[in-house]
Amino acid sequence: MAFLTGRCMCEAVTWTYSGDITRNLVCYCADCQRATSAPLTAFLGMRPEQLSWSGDIRHYESSPDTFRGFCPSCGTRLYFRSDRWPHEIHVHAATMTNPDDYQPDAQVFMPSRVKWLDRLPTIPTHDGFQQRPSGPPAHRTALRSG
Ligand SMILES: [Zn+2]
Ligand SMILES: [Zn+2]
Repeated sequence: MAFLTGRCMCEAVTWTYSGDITRNLVCYCADCQRATSAPLTAFLGMRPEQLSWSGDIRHYESSPDTFRGFCPSCGTRLYFRSDRWPHEIHVHAATMTNPDDYQPDAQVFMPSRVKWLDRLPTIPTHDGFQQRPSGPPAHRTALRSG
């Protein structure tokens, strides 16, 4: 039994959940990549009847009877649900009030995982943005105006 809360970026939409978490999965499927503009998506499986929302929510029907909810003000993705699994809704873990509380226990759709994720441990890291882009000045100008 968990008690969790969450919100979108602009805080127009909030959610509260009191119930069992049915899944903690990280999804690499191509649809989630497109829908979230991100290489991976983390979900919390919840019972719809124990989840309450406040605020205006829109959804996109990404495949027949499958819906992806989002905040119409800020665009934050909120959930995935499908009529194929009526007793479960997948809420985006990144919307949790404390996203660090998330504990994934499964990774799914591994064949569509983008290959560059494997390189992350070897790529230079920074606490904030890099100080300046690399490359000659002319190249930087072209990037800015593009
Ligand atoms: Zn919002
Ligand atoms: Zn997916």
